[in-house]
Amino acid sequence: MAEQNKTILIVEDETNIVDILRFNLQRSGYATLEAYDGEAGLKIAREQNPDLILLDLMLPKMSGFEICRSLREAGNPVPIVMLTAREDESDKVTGLELGADDYITKPFSMRELLARVGANLRRFSVRASAPAAGAAGAMTVAKALSIDTDSHQVFRDGGAINLTQREYELLTFLALRPNKVFSREELMAQVWNYGYVGDDLRTVDVTVRRLREKLEPDPATPTYIRTRRGAGYYFSSEE
Ligand code: CA
Repeated sequence: MAEQNKTILIVEDETNIVDILRFNLQRSGYATLEAYDGEAGLKIAREQNPDLILLDLMLPKMSGFEICRSLREAGNPVPIVMLTAREDESDKVTGLELGADDYITKPFSMRELLARVGANLRRFSVRASAPAAGAAGAMTVAKALSIDTDSHQVFRDGGAINLTQREYELLTFLALRPNKVFSREELMAQVWNYGYVGDDLRTVDVTVRRLREKLEPDPATPTYIRTRRGAGYYFSSEE
């Protein structure tokens, strides 16, 4: 069931794909906005604050990567689901590194797409509805590291660290279960918590890498998010 009053921005230059997306999204109860090139997409994203963006990557005037980077650099947390070609593995990784939340490969089934849209909207609304409290509710998960699960903020040595929704969820999931090793498959199921369709476990690796770059004093020798070779990742509370 679609959430009421949610607006999806479709940024895609293939008009037949836009038509199909618009039709199905509206039939599911969403409002839609459309942009057929990158510049228009970025403009609408900034001015109309959609609840989620479906973002093609190869676009006239400005690529989906540039849109993603530009929105994230400005601190815009809107969920972004990339529309990628199945063969373009490097595009997926690049997009995730630039701060996209998810991707779906073309050709996709409408059922799968609607499931992705719903899942990404639900995660985001959990965060958006959390009160913007200070660090009062923060719990210490390692000597220098604390998480405020009310405001969804993470602090290292008292300074706030700016994480994306997915990075926050991954960190929190691991930190609340310290020293327990989770395989990438388990993390995919638990943190990316919808039936991920036979897909790319590198999504987990990329998110771990991004998280380490923001979190770790030395990302090359991580102290918090550690790798157990051949098994998976775990959070260590010992520094
Ligand atoms: Ca295109």
